[in-house]
Amino acid sequence: MSRDIETQARILDGKALAGEIRAGLARTVAAHRAAGLRAPGLAVVLVGDDPASAVYVRNKRRACLEVGISARDLDRPAATSQTALEALVDELNADPEVDGILIQMPLPAHLDAQALLDRIDPSKDVDGFHPVNAGRLLQGVRGLAPCTPLGIMALLDQAQIPIEGKRAVVIGRSNIVGKPMALMLLARNATVTICHSRTPDLAGTVREGDIVVAAVGRAELVRGDWIKPGAAVIDVGMNRDASGKLVGDVAFLEASRVAAAITPVPGGVGPMTIAMLLSNILASYERRVGLPG
Ligand code: NAD
Repeated sequence: MSRDIETQARILDGKALAGEIRAGLARTVAAHRAAGLRAPGLAVVLVGDDPASAVYVRNKRRACLEVGISARDLDRPAATSQTALEALVDELNADPEVDGILIQMPLPAHLDAQALLDRIDPSKDVDGFHPVNAGRLLQGVRGLAPCTPLGIMALLDQAQIPIEGKRAVVIGRSNIVGKPMALMLLARNATVTICHSRTPDLAGTVREGDIVVAAVGRAELVRGDWIKPGAAVIDVGMNRDASGKLVGDVAFLEASRVAAAITPVPGGVGPMTIAMLLSNILASYERRVGLPG
């Protein structure tokens, strides 16, 4: 954690924390290998040739290899049928050396993405998107949870930001960020408000938050005067501004003059998401090889 000279808020350095987490995971994998166990394995299914998806897949693969997780690339042409992909998922579900299965989104329009995600064995659903895992999170039962909100909880905890009894405002209600984020904060006894595109007084509601999580996808939507002085502000957004620069959902400079702690974009939530993906793969592996998790 560092303090930027131009701002008042503490900068929550997700890049640094993710690096520490990845180093810890690498040590754990090395110890398992030294004890004679197989490497953890991720299978990544990429359909078609969307350039952004290819970059995401490459980054995930590189992150896996760095900690000793073997990554199997399953690239398929854009015209691949639903039946062929379902057969591939079945094969990966049955493969004892595959601990995690990722299907890179978006899929070509002729494919039923939800049906494919639903077909993944929930114990290999390292993205935490399967309805069984979503249900477990809802019920507070152990399972694999979505990586972005998991990474945010780790960032809040490392910075020792109090959660219990605090007002948390989550902007965005997607299944991969907003909803699971709200459930994780609720499980830690925050009083949680979920805002979305139909929330009438967004600024006024955000101003109530001791913890604000912005997961909208609108560049700098959240202004400095929306932030309660002393709040912790978590910016999930990844948007391009007019000049092509990566910016978050929060107007960083404005907000950092009011908040007590804030995540930068880039270098905040993004690196934590990948670290949590690796952590989910390792958890799945440890259960599969019979190690106490
Ligand atoms: P999404 O499009 O599925 O959901 C956006 C949500 O924002 C919706 O629930 C919608 O109701 C709400 N919303 C839209 N306009 C709004 C408005 N004007 N006021 C209030 N709420 C509004 O998006 P998502 O998948 O949850 O992702 C959100 C952002 O986070 C995107 O920028 C995405 O790129 C980014 N993201 C980053 C990471 C990461 O690792 N850093 C991971 C996932 C998503």
